[in-house]
Amino acid sequence: MVLLAGRKKRRQMRLRNIAGSREVIADSAFTVKDPEKKKGLWKKEVFKNDNPIHIEIGMGKGRFLMDMAALHPDINYVGIEKYSSVLLRAIQKQEQLLLPNIIFIRMDAEAISEVFAPSEVEKIYLNFSDPWPKDRHAKRRLPSREFLGRYDKILVPEGVVEFKTDNRDLFQFALEEVEPAGWTLDAVTYDLHNDETMNQGNVMTEYEEKFSQMGNPIYKYIISRKGSN
Ligand code: SAM
Repeated sequence: MVLLAGRKKRRQMRLRNIAGSREVIADSAFTVKDPEKKKGLWKKEVFKNDNPIHIEIGMGKGRFLMDMAALHPDINYVGIEKYSSVLLRAIQKQEQLLLPNIIFIRMDAEAISEVFAPSEVEKIYLNFSDPWPKDRHAKRRLPSREFLGRYDKILVPEGVVEFKTDNRDLFQFALEEVEPAGWTLDAVTYDLHNDETMNQGNVMTEYEEKFSQMGNPIYKYIISRKGSN
């Protein structure tokens, strides 16, 4: 077990430290440098259209968001990822796909409200977010009330957050954060792939495929601020 944990850690470190990944990202036409300069200007200056903006926070290698972008050409997608080496994989894929309606940002989502203006975003996806199991790290969890407060600042009034995970403890935590943060639970399932309604149009993420193949059920919620005003 200890050995496995050690191996996993080394692999993660390798992924985070691919030589030159920061430089590739800085030079790539598929990422936005100094994203805070685009605040309030994403539609006009980045996408050059008036289509809605949907973002994924913690997109990893970007498979979900690129599949979504191909399926929904009338939506603008922004993928946000903290680590260059993971983001590099998304850039390499986009260099082949050349989807016109997707762009990436390398950043820590803690600063998300410095990058998007109030009501600039219609939907936020959180997929298989890191669990941060220690209590003292709860604020780092992407569905925490601290993060919900940040999402509140950038979403349109009817905007939604969609969260998927196979981690039961993280999902339970996320559910308990909804009401205290002033949000409303619109839909919930404890077995997405066997939920006819919520699974309609579901696009699998890389982690979702991996964990559902291992037999894990996938949990999902959709929340909004409908009842909160
Ligand atoms: N969403 C992908 C999926 O479902 O296949 C990847 C899931 S992976 C477990 C979580 C990703 O979120 C990692 O790549 C991690 O670097 C990123 N992440 C975690 N916290 C973040 C933050 N505060 N800002 C941006 N990215 C973050």
